[in-house]
Amino acid sequence: MKKGVSILTIILILIAVLFFIRLANPVELDDLTPGIPCESDLIEKANILWVIPDFENNSIAQNKPWCSEILELNKKLGIHGVKHSYNEFRENITQAEIQRGMEIFKECFGFSPTMFKPPQLAISDEEKKLIKDSGMELMIGGNQITHKVYHCNDSDIIKNWMVRIF
Ligand SMILES: [Zn+2]
Repeated sequence: MKKGVSILTIILILIAVLFFIRLANPVELDDLTPGIPCESDLIEKANILWVIPDFENNSIAQNKPWCSEILELNKKLGIHGVKHSYNEFRENITQAEIQRGMEIFKECFGFSPTMFKPPQLAISDEEKKLIKDSGMELMIGGNQITHKVYHCNDSDIIKNWMVRIF
């Protein structure tokens, strides 16, 4: 009985530690693009905005008012896939497509992206290499566990309301 209580205590401490780690780490917002409605409070909360450059063939560079609106927020911006189609980065995306995504981003914001986060956090070894060759920093690994990550369209298994609480 006593042993059971102490294991529970350890679990509770670990949850509390994780809670404070998540509180201290930068808040991220995924799937930001003009074609996906996004609550303004989520955008305000976030420290890092993950932008989809060409969602459903709508290049963000063609929406200059949107570009300046996002830029004026003065947040860290990263690139989140190119089109963000399902399993985009498990299906042999080419260096040219990655370059295109980077160029669209640059045309929109005036600087090249330095951070990359693959859709669904799924990426093959070959594509990891392509990202490395592009000069961008790949951001995966424990992201959703150690960071609060919201999604504009609330599409993730981990819902925005859960992220708000924990
Ligand atoms: Zn996403």
